[in-house]
Amino acid sequence: MARITTLSRFALWLLLAPLAHAAAPTQDEVVARAAVLYADRLAERIIDHDAYFTARVRRIADVLIAQARRDYPDTANWAWEVHTTDDPDQNADCMAGGKILVSKAYVERLLLNDDELAMLLAHEIEHAALHHNWHEYQAALRLDPAWEQRSFLELEHAVDHDRTLMAKLAATNYAQEEAADREGLKLAWRAGWPAERLSGYFRKMMRASDSPRLSKADYPSPTQRWRAAQAVAADLQKK
Ligand SMILES: [Zn+2]
Repeated sequence: MARITTLSRFALWLLLAPLAHAAAPTQDEVVARAAVLYADRLAERIIDHDAYFTARVRRIADVLIAQARRDYPDTANWAWEVHTTDDPDQNADCMAGGKILVSKAYVERLLLNDDELAMLLAHEIEHAALHHNWHEYQAALRLDPAWEQRSFLELEHAVDHDRTLMAKLAATNYAQEEAADREGLKLAWRAGWPAERLSGYFRKMMRASDSPRLSKADYPSPTQRWRAAQAVAADLQKK
């Protein structure tokens, strides 16, 4: 009897397996979806308003993107894009597939010099190069398999809005922030920036923060990030 039950469960699994993973996107699907969302974000903002600032960001981003293309071969064929906005509610980000948006307001608020701006961009580029969105979806489906029954679009919304799921993903997000800091610093260093100067970004971020010592479940504190960057920089300078 038990054997029949096992067999029929297996048959059922075979039948439902393709549907059960409706929400599990491939990396290509994540990249395609990011391109759509990025186009929407650009359409609803004034972009590249300050030609000088945009040229400055692109000059630095181009060097980092060239390095990423060498270090992460699957990013070589991406349609990388770099745009700027004056939107004070944006900081900087790089969506899957290399879609970068940088806020002039954020860079000015922190008074970032070119080395520090390189660190900011390198951190964001690493989120994309390391496929962090795709890994986040994988983690969500592993931690809360009920999401396998839902669509990718529902899952995409949930990772940023469903508090229960977000709590489960906090450790994943925390680790991704640490990885983007560490690997971003190394990426920019390989591209030619002095490690010590790159780490200066984290000092400015810490000084601009209202609560520099406050870590969240999904985010290391600015103080921790500054200490970690100093350790990575010291290590690189020995090489
Ligand atoms: Zn980040």
